[in-house]
This record gives sequence, C-alpha cells and structure tokens, in this order.
Amino acid sequence: MPIYDPTKMPANSFDTHTHLNDDAFWNELDAYVARAHEFRVMEMNIVGYDAKGNERALEIAHKYDGVNAIIGFQPEDAKFFDDQAAAELREQLNDVAVVGLGEMGLDYHWDTSSREDQLKAFEQQLEWAKELNKPVTIHSRDAMDDVYSILKNAHVGDFGGVMHSFTGNAEEAEKFLDLGMYISFSGIVTFKNSKDVQAAAQVVPLDRMLVETDAPYLAPTPLRGKQNEPAFVKYVVDGLAAQLGIDDKELATQTRANAHKLWSLD
Ligand SMILES: [Zn+2]
Repeated sequence: MPIYDPTKMPANSFDTHTHLNDDAFWNELDAYVARAHEFRVMEMNIVGYDAKGNERALEIAHKYDGVNAIIGFQPEDAKFFDDQAAAELREQLNDVAVVGLGEMGLDYHWDTSSREDQLKAFEQQLEWAKELNKPVTIHSRDAMDDVYSILKNAHVGDFGGVMHSFTGNAEEAEKFLDLGMYISFSGIVTFKNSKDVQAAAQVVPLDRMLVETDAPYLAPTPLRGKQNEPAFVKYVVDGLAAQLGIDDKELATQTRANAHKLWSLD
C-alpha cells in the first residue's frame, strides 16, 4: 500500500466520523491511533451505531486525547432501539466524552429495520439533541427527501448537524446547507464515478465542509477496496483539495476548525 509522506502535508486534520469501535480495529487500537498520528490526523470522532458500538465509542474516547464520542442508533439497528436501549443511551449521553448524537437517520436501501422503527428512533434522538443542545450526525441512504423534511421540522439549525458521508447532488447539498447543516465528505468524493458528489462539493462553502473516513468502509482513492482507517482521511483531504483547486494544508486546517466549531471543542 502506498504510504503517505507526512512531510508533504504539515497540517493536522480531523477525521470527523470513524468507527474504531468496529471489530476490524478493536484489538489494535493503539496501532491505528499511532498511525493516524503519523499522518497528522490528531483528532477524530468515534461514532456509535448500536449498544455495543456506543459503549466502545465511549471507552475509546476516554482512552485517547483528541478523540471524542458521538453515540446513537443508526437506522439499520433501529429495531433494537427498545425502551431499555433508549434508557441506556439517554444515560450515556451525559458522559463528558460525548460531543454529539448519531449516527441516526433513515436507510431505505438495506431496510433491515422497519421504516416505522427507523422513524421512531430518529425522532427520539432528535428530541434529545434539542434538549441537550448537541449536534446530530445524519446517515441518509436512498431517503434524502424524508430525511430533509424531518430535519427541517426538527429545526436542526438550532442545535446543529452534519450530513455524514454525503452522497447527494449539488441541489440536495444546498437544501441541507439552508437548514444550517454541515456537509461531510468521505472517500466517495475521490471515486472517479462520483460525479454528483463531486458537483456537490463545489457548492459547499469552505466553512461548512467536513472530512471523514467512515472507516473501516469507503477507503479513498488510491486505496479504494482496501480496509480504511483514520489515517487515510489525508487522502480525502488531498483528493478534495485537488478538486476544489485549493491547497491541501488550507483544507485540512479549515475542516479541522469547522469540526471544532460544530462540536464546540475549543
Ligand atoms: Zn458510519
């Protein structure tokens, strides 16, 4: 695998969405965090998706500096979001390591949980986000219109949010920007055939843009198909900066500052 030359990009970057809580990383956390640091990825958000993922996200955030937890129930696992799971999550949200809620949303592609269960989990978590005044990390797959209406009705701009691993087009990006949200780009924006997502990146103002790996999934070009990891957010920055015609250092610095602002990290 090509190894990134850290001397080429002397700016720190922030992987705003990664799953070191996944089994792929769990037994080698130190190594993956060390490699992220080698690539000057000094900060990251570990994002939960179910009970076990949330517990692990908290554990990792407590263990490493510069690592925060975002916890919640993703739509695929909404069927497990029963009263007991909800009570447990609500309790965990009081943890100081938690900077936001998610991932949450709607997924009509996998449909592993009923749409009714997805909606119920999504709306409950939005209510808590409002109550706690913490931003939400949104997962939307084949459900852009419904996700948009729900976020609009919830006044997401009041507590903030990000469309994670954005897969929409430019017009859709503008709609979510109008709600006051941030747009986060993953390795998908570096894929040759992702024309819509690349067009979306062109309309997102630099101060509303974030970068992420969504590791272990979605390894960016030139590592597409490999197992992704937080260090590789550098390649997302590289690819996106080239498309935008700006300096990679500037994009790393700006997206890091945006993350600090959204999740109140300063
Ligand atoms: Zn994710």
